[in-house]
Amino acid sequence: MEREIESIAGTLHDSLEPLLPTTGDPTRVLQRIVPDLCLVGQACTVNRTLIQRHTTGVSDRTLYYIRLFDHHGELLAFSPNQPAPTETALTPVWQTITFPDGKRYRQFTTILHNAEGQTLAGHSHDSWGYLQIGRDLTALEAETQRIGWILAIALPVTLLVVALSSWGLAGLAMRPIYQSYQQQQQFTANAAHELRSPLASLLATVDAITHLAPTDPQTLFPLLTTVERQGRRLSQLINDLLLLSRLEQNTATTPRQRCCLNDLVSDLAEEFLELAIAADLTLTSHVPAAPLPVWGDEPQLYRLVANVIANAIHYTPPGGAIHLRLDQSDRTALITIQDNGIGIAPADLPHIFERFYRVTSDRSRQTGGTGLGLALVKAIAHRHHGQITVTSTPNQGSTFTIHLPIHPDRASPRQPATLLPRQPWSYPPPQ
Ligand code: ADP
Repeated sequence: MEREIESIAGTLHDSLEPLLPTTGDPTRVLQRIVPDLCLVGQACTVNRTLIQRHTTGVSDRTLYYIRLFDHHGELLAFSPNQPAPTETALTPVWQTITFPDGKRYRQFTTILHNAEGQTLAGHSHDSWGYLQIGRDLTALEAETQRIGWILAIALPVTLLVVALSSWGLAGLAMRPIYQSYQQQQQFTANAAHELRSPLASLLATVDAITHLAPTDPQTLFPLLTTVERQGRRLSQLINDLLLLSRLEQNTATTPRQRCCLNDLVSDLAEEFLELAIAADLTLTSHVPAAPLPVWGDEPQLYRLVANVIANAIHYTPPGGAIHLRLDQSDRTALITIQDNGIGIAPADLPHIFERFYRVTSDRSRQTGGTGLGLALVKAIAHRHHGQITVTSTPNQGSTFTIHLPIHPDRASPRQPATLLPRQPWSYPPPQ
């Protein structure tokens, strides 16, 4: 706004200065050179073209007034739209003036010199007179007030909206953290519970041993067997927990290698045959001739399939049958373990891969299960970029299917030597 006033004042100043009279009554001369201004002491009948001419491009010309003073500060001429004259300082400064009608103006005063550098009286003087330009501040102040109101209302509202949405978003962001914290707490409680049972039994047995007469080996032997069993159970539980934690933190250190699933499934079918016969079950397997290799940690892959076979044996009543299969579907190897055992109720199916989840607690404990078997299976399958799925019908049986991506370089060990780049100077030849 001040730049606009200064620009108008500059234009007027440059137009007026060469025409300013040096002698005599300035009224007549001023009337000639500035016909748009009212002259002091004369009726004001002029129109507003002067202001309009010098405020071209300015939004509202009626906002401005112009005044001309001689070097004594006597008002000589003024624009018709100016408010009632007031006493103002005639120094080249910016001023903000409040007129009696309450209107506020921003006013700029500039010194006028005529061509010869003389006053009206013909004396040489610093200035001929003064040019004053004022601009109405009403619209600007109304706008400032409006912005003030907007800020006063909008700022708290915005802050409130931001606070509420931050609170909501923080709640959303915290939900998974809270869930994982709850899971962690549940896991700790379950682990403590699982550790406590064998420990309590172990301590009770040791207590009984300490009260036995040393010469009673017949009673001592079964008690020592219990101690050993509970010790093994504890050790198994702790090993499972450690493995699970390493798998979940991705810190298992065994190097990865090419593992042939055909050998793995055949070996496990052989290993579990004895256990199946002891449980009065038939265990059959089907392994294709074509090799199905995967890239992974062999002991973990053994553990993966062994856990599922062990479960099938544990949860199939005597006289039942278990069938192992290795198949290929596209680029995936499928290991299927099917039993005709007790099956799993649909309500339990989504939970059986959770840590310490047991459908039949008593039976599971009797079989030495820690409740971590399938959680480990799932974690190992995920670490090998695979997955495990299950279908089951209560009292009819369950089918677990392990999906593992086949190693892309399945034919590499059998590649003919002629396909390898030959380097005649290298000896022995590349392996
Ligand atoms: P556990 O060590 O108790 O066997 P798992 O994690 O291996 O724990 O299995 C979780 C639960 O899933 C078991 O308690 C059992 O009730 C159920 N389950 C697992 N495999 C089978 C199966 N083949 N047939 C029926 N139930 C099964």
